[in-house]
Amino acid sequence: MSGENLSSAACIAGGGPAGLVLGLLLARAGVEVVVLEKHADFLRDFRGDTIHPSTLEVMHELGLLDALLKLPHQKAYNLQVRMGDATLSVDFSGLATRCKFIAFMPQWDFLNFVAARASEYPTFQLRMRTAVTGLVEEGGRVTGVRATAPDGPLTVRADLVVGCDGRQSDVRERAGLKATEIGAPMDVLWFRLSRRAGDPESPMGRFASGAIFIMLNQDAHWQCGYVIAKGALEPLRAKGLPAFKNSVSALAPFVADRVDELRDWEQLKLLTVRVDRLERWYREGLLCIGDAAHAMSPVGGVGINLAIQDAVATANLLTRPLHERRLSIDDLRRVQERREFPTRVTQRIQVAVQRRIISRFLGGDVTPPLPIRLMARFPLLRRIPGWLIGIGVRPEHLSR
Ligand SMILES: Cc1cc2nc3c(=O)[nH]c(=O)nc-3n(C[C@H](O)[C@H](O)[C@H](O)COP(=O)(O)OP(=O)(O)OC[C@H]3O[C@@H](n4cnc5c(N)ncnc54)[C@H](O)[C@@H]3O)c2cc1C
Repeated sequence: MSGENLSSAACIAGGGPAGLVLGLLLARAGVEVVVLEKHADFLRDFRGDTIHPSTLEVMHELGLLDALLKLPHQKAYNLQVRMGDATLSVDFSGLATRCKFIAFMPQWDFLNFVAARASEYPTFQLRMRTAVTGLVEEGGRVTGVRATAPDGPLTVRADLVVGCDGRQSDVRERAGLKATEIGAPMDVLWFRLSRRAGDPESPMGRFASGAIFIMLNQDAHWQCGYVIAKGALEPLRAKGLPAFKNSVSALAPFVADRVDELRDWEQLKLLTVRVDRLERWYREGLLCIGDAAHAMSPVGGVGINLAIQDAVATANLLTRPLHERRLSIDDLRRVQERREFPTRVTQRIQVAVQRRIISRFLGGDVTPPLPIRLMARFPLLRRIPGWLIGIGVRPEHLSR
């Protein structure tokens, strides 16, 4: 084939949390792996900065926790969520893990850290500015990918291609894998406001009539998420930016002195919330994990965690067959069997929260539903959302 040709045991499309962690784990186990990432660096728009206790546990198992926590981050031991007149403190202090907190760290710092550690292994290659454009197939089996690299076309032959290319996955599309759309009633507008002396430290959530607002402490600024009903952007814009700023000030009065930092709608980025799940995550020679297999709702902010847990399970199940060059479709099926259950349960809970809480507040009803009132009243019950967010269903551990 024209252009550069490479061969490797595994080829990973996408250098996000799933792709880089899987690359690190395979390389550490001595499996040849090449990760192809279409962007030039990891410095991109905000797409979640949470490193959950279960991911921190994996970092500990890798012997990387201390080095990771030397990078600038904020620790959130609990999350304060006000819903109408009830305040829910989601508590991580009771978790049976080494780190009883979520570390808020810019995702690019985390990804740079993982990429740097992976690069210490001779079997790891990361190709930036290299976009996967197609699959190589022989007799119905995927045997590699075609990509465009800075120096021209690139073909990578591999025993396994892993689609870790996110919610708009090209790999899953080209592999013809079908997704079940689960849907969401909302979208999120993200923007930044400065942080000032005397501001609270903890991340916050405010649920009010017709509006939901979250604020994440990113040290020098607040990363703010304003949840709107799907399709409600145009009516919101029609009311004008001053009305939007007034609404933000009403939800978080301490930022009223700086909402004028918002001068233009261009400063607000719309995240179109999409929730879906592949019916089959694999084909002969190919597997999808992370958002490529299941786009998660932003409820609970667990997408990064699930992507990393998928990567751990994939490495646990596939390292040996990859080493021994006897990877079969049954091995790939086992990855789906292992990870589909936690994905389904998490999405089911997210959909329940979307229907019973988010739609309710966006529709103007400010009465917190019974489970929230019970959790606000009984501290032990608060450990349930703390566990679901911090650890999640079926946490994965390194098998070697
Ligand atoms: C605005 C926003 C806020 C979010 N907030 C949170 C949060 O607080 N907590 C949380 O847990 N999750 C959050 N998420 C979700 C989280 O970002 C994802 O669930 C998580 O990043 C999924 O990881 P991934 O590795 O599967 O995919 P991604 O992180 O999407 O990574 C995919 C990678 O593949 C690359 N790529 C795509 N196509 C190709 C191609 N053809 N060739 C090569 N490379 C390609 C992309 O450039 C990207 O680097 C948020 C998402 C958004 C958009």
